[in-house]
Amino acid sequence: MTIFLKKKEQKKENNGYLLWGLIAVELFMSFSFLGYIHIEPISLTFVYIPVLVAGCILGPKEASLVGAVFGLASMWKASAFYVGAGDAVFSPAMSGKPIQSILLSVGSRTLFGFIAGVLYKMAMRGKHPTAGLLVVSSFGRVLHTIIVYGFMGAFFPEMGFTAANTLEDIKRWDFLISTAAVDLIVFLCYTLRRSDHATRLFQRIKKIDEINASVMRNRRGIAVMLILVLLSSFSVAVYFTNRIGSVMSRYGVSLQENASYDIMHLQIQFLLGMISLALLVVIIVLMYQKNFNYLYYEARLDGLTGLLGRRQFFQVGEGMLGNMESPEEGKTGCFIIMDIDRFKEINDRFGHPEGDRILKGVAENLKRVFGNKGILGRLGGDEFVALINYQMSREEIEEQLRRLREEIGQIHIQEEHVTCSVGVLPVVREYNIDKLYHRADRLLYEAKKQGRDQFVFGKRDVEQEG
Ligand code: GH3
Ligand code: MG
Repeated sequence: MTIFLKKKEQKKENNGYLLWGLIAVELFMSFSFLGYIHIEPISLTFVYIPVLVAGCILGPKEASLVGAVFGLASMWKASAFYVGAGDAVFSPAMSGKPIQSILLSVGSRTLFGFIAGVLYKMAMRGKHPTAGLLVVSSFGRVLHTIIVYGFMGAFFPEMGFTAANTLEDIKRWDFLISTAAVDLIVFLCYTLRRSDHATRLFQRIKKIDEINASVMRNRRGIAVMLILVLLSSFSVAVYFTNRIGSVMSRYGVSLQENASYDIMHLQIQFLLGMISLALLVVIIVLMYQKNFNYLYYEARLDGLTGLLGRRQFFQVGEGMLGNMESPEEGKTGCFIIMDIDRFKEINDRFGHPEGDRILKGVAENLKRVFGNKGILGRLGGDEFVALINYQMSREEIEEQLRRLREEIGQIHIQEEHVTCSVGVLPVVREYNIDKLYHRADRLLYEAKKQGRDQFVFGKRDVEQEG
């Protein structure tokens, strides 16, 4: 079954889960030891890795976004009083040059993501994508360092750093080891994303999301929940800061205002780390849940044609009706019911397997003509239905039906060809799916009575048809 989606949505690859996952990983790494190991004299940074992974498996736009998150997190971390002068340049609140600081923390990382994404794209278009991927990944750390030092030299020359300082980074003991680790991580993510398992999983998620999109468009609940989570987290931070202050004063330490701010700042950092971890878990659970939803959904499809079965059609259709856009001038969605003419005879004369072939052929043609405009079902026997959630004028619907008739006419059984009778009813907003079905069924009956191989159009008016 295919569900009607707006053109833009149809083209969109469903990389949303991966992008959100990488954003969560980036945040989590920024606020945990997974991203920075800083135990004197060792200081290692891994936070640029999710940006490279995003560039490799998603593209420049997505890598820029993950880079921006990296930048925002570093900006937040630098915005405290306990931070040293070297790091304070990353904070618009502490550096005295807010715009330059934003450019340095967020701008440089966004640019890093973008350039990395473009380089991956170019490298992987070549003859040896894996080699290209490894070259770009090996260059990732240098690219990040050059851009950050370059920005620092341009906006904070008083710090005495320029892009040339990258050389010192290259000479560090961990450079080769970290390059090999980055190569391995990016390569693994790339291989995993392209594996059959992941491809299948993402296809299933995409299909189930398409079905959901056609049935429910209201995302307000999720937005409200997110706001509540953020507000609650903030209240936890305020509470703990207050408690820490009380404990300290109990033991005779009174906190200055700056120290209080710094503790609050760390609390928020801690919470962001926890929220990003929770986000990651939610994304993973959601993906697997959708995978199972799809398998359940697929198991209930009509085995012969792959269209929706009776119960599913009515279930999905009812939800879809509730979300249908109001008809535009002279245009409307519609309910179509179609029945093969003298199908019993076909079965009797040519056998059941031949009858099954005809049923499959009719379903294929129905998918081709109306598949991207609504939901399709086979209610049993030779009766097909479609609920079209796509605004069309009567002429447009008739044109599509003529096309369908022509295509079905191409299905031959020896020297004869298949014909169908059709009832079409424009969607009446006052009707539920059962009522639409019953009225369309009467139109089908008319078409049969009038000699078959034709369609009968119903009127939209509730009263007249009564
Ligand atoms: P009409 O033009 O009035 O529709 O005549 P008809 O012979 O097509 O009558 P009807 O639609 O009632 O016939 C449906 C037939 O479909 C009856 C049954 O033998 C056949 N049928 C039902 N399910 C299947 C199936 O899964 N495969 C095959 N091959 N035939 C089926
Ligand atoms: Mg029939």
